[in-house]
Amino acid sequence: MDDHERKQKESFVSRRALFKGAGVGVAGMAAAYALDKVGLLPDALTRGFSANKGFGEPPTDKMTYRTHPGSGDKISLLGFGCMRFPMLPQATSPGGTQIDERAAFALVDYALAHGVNYFDTAYTYHRGISEVVMGKALKRHPRETYFVATKMPGRLLPTLEQAKEMFETQLERTQLEYIDYYLLHNLQSVDVYQQVYEKNGVLEYLLEQKEKGRIRNLGWSFHGDEAMLEYILSRDVKWDFAQVQLNYHDLMHQYITPPALAAMLDALQVVPAQTQWMYEKVLAAELPLIVMEPLLGGRLARLNKKSLAILQEERPQDSAASWAIRYVAGLPNVLTVLSGMTYMEHLQDNIRTCAPFTPLTEKESGVLKSALDVFLSADNIRCTRCGYCMPCPYGIDIPEVFTHYNNCLDDELLPKDARHADYVQQRRAYLVSQERDVPELRRAERCTGCNKCVKQCPQYINIPQEMARLGKFVEELRVKG
Ligand code: SF4
Ligand code: SF4
Repeated sequence: MDDHERKQKESFVSRRALFKGAGVGVAGMAAAYALDKVGLLPDALTRGFSANKGFGEPPTDKMTYRTHPGSGDKISLLGFGCMRFPMLPQATSPGGTQIDERAAFALVDYALAHGVNYFDTAYTYHRGISEVVMGKALKRHPRETYFVATKMPGRLLPTLEQAKEMFETQLERTQLEYIDYYLLHNLQSVDVYQQVYEKNGVLEYLLEQKEKGRIRNLGWSFHGDEAMLEYILSRDVKWDFAQVQLNYHDLMHQYITPPALAAMLDALQVVPAQTQWMYEKVLAAELPLIVMEPLLGGRLARLNKKSLAILQEERPQDSAASWAIRYVAGLPNVLTVLSGMTYMEHLQDNIRTCAPFTPLTEKESGVLKSALDVFLSADNIRCTRCGYCMPCPYGIDIPEVFTHYNNCLDDELLPKDARHADYVQQRRAYLVSQERDVPELRRAERCTGCNKCVKQCPQYINIPQEMARLGKFVEELRVKG
């Protein structure tokens, strides 16, 4: 458990009192608020979405719905992920507590008005404030018009009493009497599962809450290794659904573990669950699936210039995000596809994709695979910006360091060869953009290799090794300048 998580665990009771005092202050805010922001986004944030500009309002009555086989709930194919709410201008971290409520309310209102009815949050998102803001936003709408998902943070290793307190806190934060879809959050290791859910009795407690109608459907989200998935599927529990990471990047591409990463995983005694293997397991278990990370933390919404051009040649009007969502939404057993939407433009684009949904044709699947091959020929780091590795005790902003590098790579601004005609220009652009995007004290070269982050990354990135590589890279750029 890291410092941040420990603090969360220790302080959840005191913050509960704070949330009690949080009123519905900005209820009734006009949904149109964020629309005028659309044209103001920097290109780096919108490139993958720009193709859909000028299409006007998405339809309000064309959303595709899928029926949960157990509850009969008709769930919108597009689900709203509440881990990346818009932030106030003074916010210091995209996953922090300073959510721009007015913009968040506008997104929620707009989503509901266009048929989105599934909202996914968690105890830990935005350090607890996501549940509060989402609850306040939804409270202004009839309860029967939406479904709410939230999660028990097993990684905080709650005792039974703490888990009970957390669940009550979640109901208070969200202002709900029942949770529609409740998850055991981020199952990663059998040890933690056994400790929290079996020995501490938290699973039995949650099943009791389901009996009482305070939880309507009980499931789990998975980021673990093979042993964890085998274990959870072998339990004598009737799970109502599962939330898993699916995207075309992981399913179309046969990932070969690099030797250095394989050595790290060996040392950790972890066998990562390959996506295809995991998907086949959950299919065989006949679990309705909630898809997370369909865009791989935004990487597939952005792509790089060459791969984006391949997609746009086939369908000039469609964004890269649209291709990615169409791919996963066409997979068997998928109930809804979550997207953590920060900007109105992202929401509108995703609504267009799902209202109504049309699956990829065989030819389009081939085009998507070609674009992926081009994308993978670059050396990008598969960080989804989930923030699970944070905080770093030495202050490194791990997701921002990786995002900056990936963005430069995608924009063909990565200086590689000093003999290249563009080298001086690219070198300068890289250093200037790093200056802008990652504060000096939070950069790769500050990494001490303490390894504290290593076990936290659900994407199994060898973070210290990547930090050493990027730190050395920047050092060389400086020297060559
Ligand atoms: S290995 Fe580096 S990035 Fe990871 S926690 Fe330690 S100092 Fe931070
Ligand atoms: S490095 Fe891993 S844990 Fe950290 S933000 Fe990226 S994907 Fe998440």
